[in-house]
Amino acid sequence: MKKFDFLILGSGIAGLTFALKAASHGRVAIVTKKDRAESNTNYAQGGIAAVTSKEDSFEMHVRDTLTAGAGLCKESVVRTIVEEGPARIQELIDLGMQFSERDAPGEDGGRELDLGKEGGHSKRRILHAKDMTGREVERALLNAISKQPNIQIFENHIAVDLITSRKVGLQDGNRCLGAYVFDSKSNRVWAFTAPVTLLATGGCGKVYLYTTNPDIATGDGVAIAYRAGASIANMEFVQFHPTCLFHPKAKSFLISEAVRGEGGVLKNLEGREFMDAYHPLKSLAPRDIVARAIDSEMKKSGSQHVWLDITHKPAPFIIDRFPNIYRTCMGYGIDITKEPIPVVPAAHYQCGGVVTNVDGETDIAGLYAVGEVACTGLHGANRLASNSLLEALVCAHRAAEKALAGTMQKTDAKIPLWQSGNATNADELVVVSHNWDEIRRCMWDYVGIVRTNKRLARAGTRIANLQGEIQEYYWNFIVTSDLLELRNIATAAELIVRCAQQRPESRGLNYNLDYPHPNPAWAQRDTVLRK
Ligand SMILES: Cc1cc2nc3c(=O)[nH]c(=O)nc-3n(C[C@H](O)[C@H](O)[C@H](O)COP(=O)(O)OP(=O)(O)OC[C@H]3O[C@@H](n4cnc5c(N)ncnc54)[C@H](O)[C@@H]3O)c2cc1C
Repeated sequence: MKKFDFLILGSGIAGLTFALKAASHGRVAIVTKKDRAESNTNYAQGGIAAVTSKEDSFEMHVRDTLTAGAGLCKESVVRTIVEEGPARIQELIDLGMQFSERDAPGEDGGRELDLGKEGGHSKRRILHAKDMTGREVERALLNAISKQPNIQIFENHIAVDLITSRKVGLQDGNRCLGAYVFDSKSNRVWAFTAPVTLLATGGCGKVYLYTTNPDIATGDGVAIAYRAGASIANMEFVQFHPTCLFHPKAKSFLISEAVRGEGGVLKNLEGREFMDAYHPLKSLAPRDIVARAIDSEMKKSGSQHVWLDITHKPAPFIIDRFPNIYRTCMGYGIDITKEPIPVVPAAHYQCGGVVTNVDGETDIAGLYAVGEVACTGLHGANRLASNSLLEALVCAHRAAEKALAGTMQKTDAKIPLWQSGNATNADELVVVSHNWDEIRRCMWDYVGIVRTNKRLARAGTRIANLQGEIQEYYWNFIVTSDLLELRNIATAAELIVRCAQQRPESRGLNYNLDYPHPNPAWAQRDTVLRK
């Protein structure tokens, strides 16, 4: 058993920010399932939305967020996050984060931050580090963490399940005492205990066959919290990024929305712009509308992709503003300064998740959730671009303050040792890989950008069958990372389908042909699931 004051599951922006704030108050364990930098954060390109210019205002950022959220955001949460953004950005800069600056000096002759523009934002307000913002965030935070002797990082450790007082038979409600954690190098399961546990495990893009997310995004946090009895909400709102590179050899490479923000236009395979038929903002319409428009164009023409064209901009500008996208596409033989980029939509962001307030508190005492794993009410039915890094920064700060202000209830309870099956059967490993593929394809085909009641019912039945098989396998065989992740993507898939089935309307990212319009009775109503 390993005892700490703070147990943090995940080393993206949410987990690392919380860790830095907690470190001066106790011993911190960061448990992370791969290398410490491997996270969705590390791949964020566009940037962080925050009001930092005179032409912008909190009111405008709030309004843009509410508009994208299609009537489901919690306005008080939106206000808090938007208004506290600039202070948190300043902290990142103080830690050494280097945002891109404008070439020309500002009015007072000093350097000014360069502000990008993305879909749904009425002003330029995206702080970025070229097109590698997330990498720079991870670098700055991990560098600061390396100077904190109170923080210990456990790489290649995957959280399996939470340890709760209910599970160990204590009579004090349902309090989180820590987590069972699988060390994938030694193949051992450890019990980590702490009075405060933070879920910062990110999203669930890997539930879908095509995704912009890296392999870590298997919905572990949502599945773990659900099994422990926490409320989960709004999982039907999966954001599909409209523009993922379409190339047989490219695995989940995103073409940032900022490319459209800087003038890139979407065209069909005949070279004709099509977004004017779908929305007045054309290629810069909110993401759900752009993704559905591309889906519809592809279905109409039978094509496998559409084009994103930025060739009308000067080549030096493109190369300087998007060095990572330029280099990566070049690697696949596509010169984006001379030819359009083939793109398709792909699963990108989980707007729902573990229900929390703006301080990251869940309905299990001692358990906090922050970042993509959480559902605070900021995003509503559709996330405004670049609001997720902002949410993680602000809520991690608030969660740390809340945890530090509370009484940290330590436990002397006897934690039972981990029990697992001990059978090994290499022949049966095919069950794991087959079920992985089946869930991801089923979700893509039946629970994707456009849904129907029939498709949801089909998906629900198939996933329930697969879960039966996975459960049997889980209890009989020795655990592996693949098996743990499979069990979690199956649960995340189940939660997405059940939430989508509960919502009898189309709103934001949940588009169901059987109810093609929003139902006013469902405005401000979340779909909440609890075990
Ligand atoms: C390609 C791409 C581009 C993006 N661009 C932007 C952008 O420009 N602006 C923006 O605001 N947002 C962007 N996003 C979304 C944003 O990056 C994420 O929402 C955000 O980084 C999530 O941060 P997080 O800390 O919650 O989770 P993550 O950064 O995903 O970190 C999760 C961590 O948890 C670990 N983990 C997961 N499960 C377990 C487990 N069972 N046990 C232990 N550890 C576990 C992972 O290994 C990882 O360390 C983008 C996302 C992608 C994929």
